[in-house]
Amino acid sequence: MGELRFDGRVAVVTGAGRGLGREYALLLAQRGATVVVNDAGGSLAGSGSDAGPADAVVREIVSAGGKAVANTDSVATPDGGRAIVDTALDRYGRIDILVHNAGIVRRAPLRDMSYDDFEAVLDVHLRGAFHVVRPAFPLMCDAGYGRIVLTSSIGGLYGNHDVANYAVAKAGVLGLSNVAAMEGAAHGVVSNVIVPAAVTRMAEGLDTSAYPPMGADLVAPAVGWLAHESCSVTGEVLIALAGRIARAVVAETPGVYRPSWSVEQVGEDIDAIRDTTDPVVFPVIPDGHGDHIRYSFAMAAQHA
Ligand code: NAD
Repeated sequence: MGELRFDGRVAVVTGAGRGLGREYALLLAQRGATVVVNDAGGSLAGSGSDAGPADAVVREIVSAGGKAVANTDSVATPDGGRAIVDTALDRYGRIDILVHNAGIVRRAPLRDMSYDDFEAVLDVHLRGAFHVVRPAFPLMCDAGYGRIVLTSSIGGLYGNHDVANYAVAKAGVLGLSNVAAMEGAAHGVVSNVIVPAAVTRMAEGLDTSAYPPMGADLVAPAVGWLAHESCSVTGEVLIALAGRIARAVVAETPGVYRPSWSVEQVGEDIDAIRDTTDPVVFPVIPDGHGDHIRYSFAMAAQHA
């Protein structure tokens, strides 16, 4: 395969001043994309702002011969999201690639979590995704081309202690990506989710001494492929962690059919209901929603 390049493409990467987003921005720019490097530059918990991180990444790109512009708006508000997308539009007249990667962390056990911490994390990760997808999506559909990559997390797939806010937000982006994939399908717009893991400042406080190599450089190629014209999947979820790239799917058990159920029968059949020996997977595209319903209807019809 020849080198996959992004010449002529305009990419917006949120949270691109540090960590994973910085790596994505550098990769895209190095392969010819013009990049809007968005980063509000605050602390891990989301307080404060600093133009330094976004400016530094732009300097790095430009000094290597690439094209980039900094943007320091926050993804956490509708106006901020629009301003980020407008930067691409005003400067370069288009947006081909949107990677929503910005993130913050506020930890607290569920029993103590404040509404402030819950909302602040949803504002950046989940509403933040909507704040940039909402203005970018119609532009992409009208142009007949778009690549959207949203960021989930192991915590979004499986949960984690002390991050109910983060787990909710990271699960939520799966729903947004799926709908963007469905509604974008007829317009050349694909949307997928990355579940990354890398040692960045988000690992502060963790003992990472026994980890295998786990740099952001091991995640960026997966995002690069999802952002590329040749990306052949949509409505999917890729995992990239410590050199392992994999696909995550929602799977169902075939289930058990009865024409009527009692509570007791659910209890009696629970092992068969939960039996994952032959999982069923309904890909989002072309019609996971309809396939799920048809599968259940077919089971009912079979027993009618
Ligand atoms: P990071 O803290 O190094 O980088 C995140 C960047 O987002 C920071 O530079 C920050 O300033 C920026 N940001 C925060 N709030 C913003 C806002 N409102 N507007 C604009 N920019 C904002 O973290 P990272 O590890 O590189 O994480 C990147 C993404 O990957 C996040 O969405 C995170 O949840 C996700 N993720 C990371 C890991 C991991 O192992 N590092 C695992 C799972 C998911």
